[in-house]
Amino acid sequence: ATPRTPIMAGNWKMHLDHREANLLVQKLAASLTPKQLTDVETVVLPPFTDLRTVQTAIDGDKLLIKYGAQDLSPHKNGAYTGDVSGVMLAKLGCSYVVVGHSERRQHHHEDDALVNAKAKAALANGLTPIVCVGEGPDVREAGEQVAHCVAQLTGALDGLKAEQVSKIVVAYEPIWAIGTGKTATPEDAQEVCGALRAAISGKHGAEVADVIRIQYGGSVKAGNIAAIMAQPDVDGALVGGASLVAEEFVSIVRFQE
Ligand code: PEP
Repeated sequence: ATPRTPIMAGNWKMHLDHREANLLVQKLAASLTPKQLTDVETVVLPPFTDLRTVQTAIDGDKLLIKYGAQDLSPHKNGAYTGDVSGVMLAKLGCSYVVVGHSERRQHHHEDDALVNAKAKAALANGLTPIVCVGEGPDVREAGEQVAHCVAQLTGALDGLKAEQVSKIVVAYEPIWAIGTGKTATPEDAQEVCGALRAAISGKHGAEVADVIRIQYGGSVKAGNIAAIMAQPDVDGALVGGASLVAEEFVSIVRFQE
């Protein structure tokens, strides 16, 4: 039995206005019992513009759902037009922040050094970074997925202390499976998640590797979550499209039933 609490996080990407965000949070809260929300940590990751709405909905009714942002600046403050800092996110009550999502790496040219700086900025502000790694189709074709993802993770965690690493969440998201409907097989997910845990064990020790949570992400839905969660090194999911539909995300959180 794993001592790790499963964590399901809904990455809303650039979807939902404040009214839709409020409605979705209310639906999730109405469909999941406090026990379900305690047994499986449930997180929503709205766009910045919805964070205050989500905070109000969750705080107002003392809901057990957690929330966070999809990105943050590596800087505390300053002349960085359009950016949002970890200080600001912490003030809004965020618990989590995604760093290194493949869409940020692709569209905003984020490299491992920047992902590392963002992970450090998150931790400095008491936010838990959800550090994303994952290979594209070419790397998968060449059979290099493990080496690729371990290298990305090593870069993202550079300079972090063991106690910091034990707090973070890692998300393995093969790019060819994101938003494509092509889910990795449970064995594909296990192969890389297991290798990431082994790499963490090698660098930071078995105790850290034992407690760190590793998610799979890529076309997760109600229909495939149980098989993915049955893998020993998969502790949850980072969910895009299916997290926008209350019924789907609720089923994903209830994978154990
Ligand atoms: C994601 O963007 O993190 C993701 C996994 O998306 P989807 O579930 O839509 O594939």
